[in-house]
Amino acid sequence: MSVFRRLGRVIFESPGSAELSLAQWHALRRQVPLMYAMLLANMVILAATHLSSAPKFLTILVPCVMIALCATRVLRWVGSDSATITPEQANRDIRAMVILGPLIAIGFAGWALSLYPFGSPPQQAHIAFFMAITTIGCMFCLLNVRKAAVAISACVLIPFTGFFVLTGQPVFIAIALNMVVVTAVLTTILLDNYRDFAGLVASRQEMARRQEQTQQLLDENHRLAWLDSLTGVPNRRSFHKELARALEEAKAGGRTIAVARLNLDRFKAVNEVFGQIAGDRVLIEVAQRIDVHRPFSSFLARLDSDNFALILTENSSGPSLEKLGQRLCEAIARPIKLPLGTTHVTASIGFAASGPEDTLETLFDHADYAGLLAKRDARGGTMVFSAIDAHDLRQIRRMEHLLHTADLDEEIYILLQPQFDIAIGETTGFEVLARWRSPVLGEISPAEFIPMAERMGLIGRITQVVLRKALAVSEKLPRRMRLSVNLSANDIGSPAAIDAVIAQVEAAPRPSRVDFEITETAIMRDLDHAKEALSRLLGLGARIALDDFGTGHSSLTHVQRLPLHRIKIDRSFVAEVTSDPTSRAIVKTMVDLCRNLGMSCVFEGIETEAQLEALAGLGGTVMQGYLFGRPMPPDQALAHAEQSEAGWRPEHSQRFGAVS
Ligand code: C2E
Ligand code: CA
Ligand code: CA
Repeated sequence: MSVFRRLGRVIFESPGSAELSLAQWHALRRQVPLMYAMLLANMVILAATHLSSAPKFLTILVPCVMIALCATRVLRWVGSDSATITPEQANRDIRAMVILGPLIAIGFAGWALSLYPFGSPPQQAHIAFFMAITTIGCMFCLLNVRKAAVAISACVLIPFTGFFVLTGQPVFIAIALNMVVVTAVLTTILLDNYRDFAGLVASRQEMARRQEQTQQLLDENHRLAWLDSLTGVPNRRSFHKELARALEEAKAGGRTIAVARLNLDRFKAVNEVFGQIAGDRVLIEVAQRIDVHRPFSSFLARLDSDNFALILTENSSGPSLEKLGQRLCEAIARPIKLPLGTTHVTASIGFAASGPEDTLETLFDHADYAGLLAKRDARGGTMVFSAIDAHDLRQIRRMEHLLHTADLDEEIYILLQPQFDIAIGETTGFEVLARWRSPVLGEISPAEFIPMAERMGLIGRITQVVLRKALAVSEKLPRRMRLSVNLSANDIGSPAAIDAVIAQVEAAPRPSRVDFEITETAIMRDLDHAKEALSRLLGLGARIALDDFGTGHSSLTHVQRLPLHRIKIDRSFVAEVTSDPTSRAIVKTMVDLCRNLGMSCVFEGIETEAQLEALAGLGGTVMQGYLFGRPMPPDQALAHAEQSEAGWRPEHSQRFGAVS
């Protein structure tokens, strides 16, 4: 491209990018004062050489005015704040420079040339030298603002060349030519240099943009890896890392720390009633409340769903933990406003302080255990892990270990408890009850090991063992008798567990005479899974009983809609039926309910004649309890069944209209 076209583009170009304008401005701010200093110094020197020959007006007054003018420009540049400069301001200053620069240049050139008539030939040569060298100096100073540099050089070069050519003196004409050549070369270099400068600014800008993008990605990764996306508080990962750090630091300093586990009590119900979005809002609100009320130095994390945890590095003694727990419980229990209404949730909090032997795992485990105790014994309140808890927890962990490593086939055995129908005076079947005989711990009650196996995910295997042993007994039972096997909530909720149950029953000789008992909690935990599981079990020809009725929170609509055959009334009602009129009224309602729904009704835990009499009076027929037989080994149960088959009747059966 020709120099002229390039010059044309330079003169009519619009301002570049914001970054370029700022970079130019910063360059100008550094170089403009130098440029004016050079100009003025050269001017003073030129004026000095003409002091005796030229009028004072030209050698003193004009330089003074020029000095004042240039000084205001210098002060203006030096006084501007480079930290707060905006691209718009930078553009304004550059534009001013592009307009004022050539005007000042014309002023200087005019002044220098006006001295010409008063000087001797060497002084005239000095004028030419002053103009040429000063123009070159200015072009260098304005290297990064090409518009100004080109405009200034043009404003000097044209009068300079014209003037000296017109003098007709060959030396001056030669100097003018020298000047044209040098300016042309300099302008080309200047344009190239400017292109490099603009390129450098652009690549610096691109680099900064990429750096910013990378930083954003890093920040986002950090957020995803370490923060909980819903509540914005640290996540489980952060918690473990921080706990390891805090514990190590505390041990090194001979101090203790504490961990709190916070779990919401009615969170599932909130999700069900108000929907998941509202549930999320509740979690966010709870996280904020904990955040506001936690000690300043503590660390808050959300571990998962409605589980939060705190690491407390100060005041980890029992009383201060209880006080903190109370404060947090109160804060969480305040009503929470939702778009569809107001809800309340409470939290159960377990605290554990670290001991010298504690590891990250044991400390967390202790807080977890305290949280479970709070949930069980102080719902909506606080529990602090104590020495007694430590002992209990050790026992539990030992038992868990033994259960985990147990030979279940060998160690789990079954007992059968008869179920007696007083209307026909016969034993109609047996409930199958599991027992664990540990070679180390001895006999363990199912009330202890069944919930433990559920927690540990072992219950499916236990169900398999119990069912296999029950099926083996059922083959030997008289034909009209049935066995009733308990299924846990985990079995009902797991299609794989139901598959295994079905496979076993189908492999046994048909028709199988095994029924199942399921609890209200199993149904309520996941109604859809429960319905599907029940219909698959019904396909086996099994009957289903709803166990422990009256103790859970089952809604009658659910009970009505499920394919149930019988309802087992919990023994807590039976125990009070003789003494408490309310229990009696409830039992009566339940008997009527079963009759209306076309289901049979079984009473559990009958221990006395008085209870039996009261229940019979209320319309109960099928009875189970120590009065009719304790849970007994299969051999004994078979003997009992044969006796019943042979017409033997317990004495009380005759009294209640048994058909003999
Ligand atoms: P459940 O299903 O309600 O079983 C009845 C419990 O009441 C049995 O306790 C039984 O021994 C007891 N019982 C029976 N008659 C009387 C009585 O007249 N008075 C008193 N006080 N108790 C009586 P057990 O065998 O200790 O079982 C406790 C619970 O363990 C069972 O309650 C059941 O929920 C669970 N369980 C037992 N075996 C199994 C099993 O094989 N699988 C599952 N998933 N759970 C089982
Ligand atoms: Ca049962
Ligand atoms: Ca029961």
